[in-house]
Formats: sequence, structure tokens, C-alpha cells
Amino acid sequence: MARVLLHMCCGPCAIVPVRRLQEEGHEVTGFFWNPNIHPLREYLRRREAVLDVARELGISVICKDNEYDPKLWFRAVSFREENRCFHCYALRLERAMSIARRGRFDAMTTSILYSRKQRHEMVRQLGEDMAGGGSVRFWYRDFREGWQEGIETSKNWGVYRQQYCGCLYSEGERYASELREVSGCAARSHGQEDGEDRG
Ligand code: SF4
Repeated sequence: MARVLLHMCCGPCAIVPVRRLQEEGHEVTGFFWNPNIHPLREYLRRREAVLDVARELGISVICKDNEYDPKLWFRAVSFREENRCFHCYALRLERAMSIARRGRFDAMTTSILYSRKQRHEMVRQLGEDMAGGGSVRFWYRDFREGWQEGIETSKNWGVYRQQYCGCLYSEGERYASELREVSGCAARSHGQEDGEDRG
């Protein structure tokens, strides 16, 4: 049995990682630290979802709410937005690793490894590089095998399921079609007005 610190990116993504680690016989503690979640109200909803999952699975969670500061995230990705996910992962994993070292955990891992939508190999490489040969290991697991299980369980439990990855950029990409739709309407509307004016 090992003490494992699980960085939790959100509630739904953490279900399968917690279950798998518990099935292996480990003691899991969650860690919620995600300055990439914007805006604050979205952070609060995801935080609540994390606590819902923790309650269901019987684990405790360290929530560093006093450290929630999107400025940290924006500074990490500024002028390198094209590669923002790399810097976003690195920021969060480094903080999780520092907490794991201070808490003398045996290992650290992350629920980001559950998502099929994230850059899985990049996360694995970052985690392993960070751990180096230090006292806290990075436990790589491919939690994606439980993709459907996580979706169904979160729905059954009524856990909040977010609609975009987290940052303002991902929110913009998620809803870009809505902007295109209204822009199209505006263009048509403008054209009609022009026509009326000319008439
Ligand atoms: S899309 Fe997701 S992983 Fe990438 S930078 Fe934004 S919040 Fe981070």
C-alpha cells in the first residue's frame, strides 16, 4: 500500500483514477489546484464536483483555494499560447509534486491521464521528468481505458460535467460556433438595413 497524491483536474475525470488506485490497494488523497479554470464561478462549480466525487469514493481532498490565482496561469502561457497546454500541465504538475514531496507521499499522479481529449503522452513525459529519481515517484497509468465508466458514473451521481477544458481560450474554442452564428446574423441584419437605407 502506498500513499498517493492524485492531482484532480475535475470531478468526472477523477472517478476512474481514484477507483483504480484504490483497487490496487493504495491510500489516495486528492489535490485540487487548477488556476487554469476560468472564470471563478466555473472554478467553484468544478471544486464542488471534486468534493462530490471525493465524498462518494471516501477520500480527502486538499483544496488550495487561497492559491487560486489565474494570473499565475496567464503568466505561464503568455506569448506562448500556441503551446499553452504544455505550460498549463507543467504548472499544475509542479505544484502537485511540491505538495507530494512536502507531505512525504510515495507517489503523485493526475486525473488528466483519464481524459481522451488531453495530450496524454505530454503529461506522462512531464510527470516522469519532474519526478526524476526523487523520493516521490510519478505514477503513470493509462486511465483512459475507463472513459465510458467515468462518464456513466458521473451522470449517475449527478456530478457537474463541464463543457470546456478550463481556460478562456478553450472556452472560446468551445463556443466559437455561437459567435459565428450571431456574426452571420449581424452581417445579414446589417445588409438588410443597408438595403432599406438605400431604398
Ligand atoms: S486547453 Fe486545457 S490543458 Fe490546454 S491550456 Fe487550456 S485549460 Fe490548460
